[in-house]
Parts: sequence; structure tokens; C-alpha cells
Amino acid sequence: MMGRLPKGCDLLDELTRICRDNQVTLGEVRAIGAVERAKIGYYDMQSRRYSWLELEQELEILSLAGNVSLKDGEVFVHAHITLGDDKGRAHGGHLAEGTTVFACEYLVREYLSDTPLRRLWDEPTGLYLWG
Ligand code: ZN
Repeated sequence: MMGRLPKGCDLLDELTRICRDNQVTLGEVRAIGAVERAKIGYYDMQSRRYSWLELEQELEILSLAGNVSLKDGEVFVHAHITLGDDKGRAHGGHLAEGTTVFACEYLVREYLSDTPLRRLWDEPTGLYLWG
């Protein structure tokens, strides 16, 4: 499915809602557009924690690539985003809640499978990875 997100919505929340409402539990997400502000994360492998970067500026969504699977039985969208500023510089990371859409065109591609992918705690990385 493809569509447009409303101005002012939260990018990650809205993509998750669309997948949940359409019962997409396994799939791929892509998007381009622009945001009014962004929150992106970087996973520090040593401390096993995310550090968050909040960009209080208008940015282009140069690319958003993500996937859809299940975590604790709920639809879970994991997405990374590359954002461009007015000087052509790129900022990127793990997409977090707190990224506000200005305009966004998305694409969700559903994959059908008898065995859905589930995210499980992975001790070696400290992340919820596909089990
Ligand atoms: Zn990530």
C-alpha cells in the first residue's frame, strides 16, 4: 500500500498505526518527504544504550528504510532514516518517536508467511532481534 501521511503527525507512530490497522505483521517500509523536527538514535555497542539526537529544524527525508515484524505480539516498525538539511548535509540514525511530519509519502509492502518474524531479547547485543 502507498499513501501520504498528514502534516503534524508523528512519523514512527503513524507508520506503526498504518501497519497495525492493515494487519501487516511482516513487511517493508519506505518513505520520502520532509519533517519539521526529528529524533534519531545511535546504538552504542559498548554501553548497550541508545544515545538520542534531537534535531530542531526542518529537514528532508532523503530515505527511510524499515521493516515490520512482531515484538511482544504487537506490530513493530523498525526504521532508519537519512535526513538532509538546507546545506545538503545528511543526518541519520534509528528513527524514534518525536519526529514530526511536514509531508511524507510512504510505501508499505507486505510479505506473507506462515511463520511471522518475532523480536526476542538477544543477550550478546542487548537488542531485540529476530529470533
Ligand atoms: Zn535501528
